[in-house]
Amino acid sequence: AKAQGRNAYRFFSAEMSSRARERLLIEQGLRRALQTDELVLHWQPVVDLNGGLTVGLEVLVRWQHPELGLILPARFIPIAEESGLIQALGRWVLMTACRQARLWRDQGGPRLRIAINVSVCQFADEGFESGVRQALQDSGLDPASLELEITESVLQRPEQNQPVLERLRALGVNIAIDDFGTGYSSLALLRQLPVDRIKIDKSFVDDLADDPHATAITGAIVGLAQTLGYALTAEGVETAVQRERLRSMGCDDAQGWLYSRALPVDQVPAWLAGQAAV
Ligand code: C2E
Ligand code: CA
Ligand code: CA
Ligand code: CA
Repeated sequence: AKAQGRNAYRFFSAEMSSRARERLLIEQGLRRALQTDELVLHWQPVVDLNGGLTVGLEVLVRWQHPELGLILPARFIPIAEESGLIQALGRWVLMTACRQARLWRDQGGPRLRIAINVSVCQFADEGFESGVRQALQDSGLDPASLELEITESVLQRPEQNQPVLERLRALGVNIAIDDFGTGYSSLALLRQLPVDRIKIDKSFVDDLADDPHATAITGAIVGLAQTLGYALTAEGVETAVQRERLRSMGCDDAQGWLYSRALPVDQVPAWLAGQAAV
């Protein structure tokens, strides 16, 4: 047992150090990626469940690493958050997304909601609000086209975060609660906070077809949102059955692989053109 313990320890420490090494590599690489053009934005269409037209795009960051290929955010966003790089990364995402969205508009593209993910630590930073203002000013994007996706954890510090939310909304920007139902949220709190939209987490959507409890929960979320006057988007919709359930419940919009994966920037105009022709 002793030898086994020692082996386990050796294995553990080897794994730890390779993890630590990967972390360090990612952190250093991210610093460089922010200077070069290695970060890219992909855009996932958000579709109106009734009309079937694309009404928005969610901006999802990826890292086009010269050796490792395309890296998904789950692998580098947490490290960016812990190292503080998330502020610079978030500013870059905001600026780049707003400029690109404005460019498409100038080229005659449809008016779309541009949804951008914001980490809690990003939101809590003093510079966040000015970053949003600057991205809007610089790009000339209509603030009403911008939607910031925050998670329920932002709602946990209402005294601190409510004024920020209110000022952002005074700019004309929309606020969505992402991954709704997976975190902590007090309904009373939600009611007090200035929020425009709720995004139903994929985990509820996944179970819609056959789990009556999940269906009941999703139905309750939809009912709550309607009562409180929030718009609704369901995320991670993969099947026609899920789409039909959500539509009949009264959910407004949906996104997911049933419609489209997140698209590289050069594929977005063709997607939008195809939609317009339908
Ligand atoms: P999220 O905001 O919940 O984004 C939805 C994730 O689900 C995306 O993963 C998307 O590609 C994926 N997805 C969309 N539809 C489907 C579907 O039908 N089936 C399945 N299986 N997956 C689907 P992605 O792009 O890997 O992003 C993961 C998370 O990383 C996001 O979760 C978001 O929290 C975070 N993230 C992405 N971009 C940014 C960013 O610019 N800033 C910050 N702070 N976080 C970001
Ligand atoms: Ca999101
Ligand atoms: Ca989400
Ligand atoms: Ca989610």
